Amino acid sequence: MRMRDLFAAALLILLAVVGGSFLQASLTTQAPVPPVEPEVEMTSAPLHDHEEPAYTSDLVIMEPSECQATALANVIPRLSGAGSVTWVWAALPATPRGTKAAGYAYADHNAVSLSVQDLPCEWVPSVAMHEWMHLATWETYGEYPEAIEHGESVTELIADCGSQVLGERFGYPTYTNYADRAGGCSEAVLDHVAHILETV
Ligand SMILES: [Zn+2]
Repeated sequence: MRMRDLFAAALLILLAVVGGSFLQASLTTQAPVPPVEPEVEMTSAPLHDHEEPAYTSDLVIMEPSECQATALANVIPRLSGAGSVTWVWAALPATPRGTKAAGYAYADHNAVSLSVQDLPCEWVPSVAMHEWMHLATWETYGEYPEAIEHGESVTELIADCGSQVLGERFGYPTYTNYADRAGGCSEAVLDHVAHILETV
């Protein structure tokens, strides 16, 4: 009898473990999603702009999904110095304009925050490259260019056009909302990008 009880208990444990594995697999398996335009705003946080979430007191640190972490781990080695950047996954507050934010760059901290909730895995490289371009811009010029081109911040255009150049180089799709609104990447902005990529 005792032996049978042991068998029964062992069988129950086995079923629980197998069942748990199936449940885990279904929770962590991501359906392939085609790269469509995400409804996110890629933005950055020059630290003098107090409308942006503060590093790190305004950030609610969260664990990324497995595919978010993997996507970031794949792009980091391709970006000069990105291995020494502090990449923080967090729940990010909305931008001052009320739109969702995918990421912020913090040049003074050599850090980037990325949105766990609003950054789909397939767009992680695009946003990581955009935010890294902000850090690289700061490293190159010691400040963010304040110029405006076609109504858009040149700092943001450099980040968008830089991520586009890098995306073409490494085979990542890129989401470039600032550059799209400005009608593309001008020669002047691409000159900045080339200079920054040569410098860092
Ligand atoms: Zn930006």
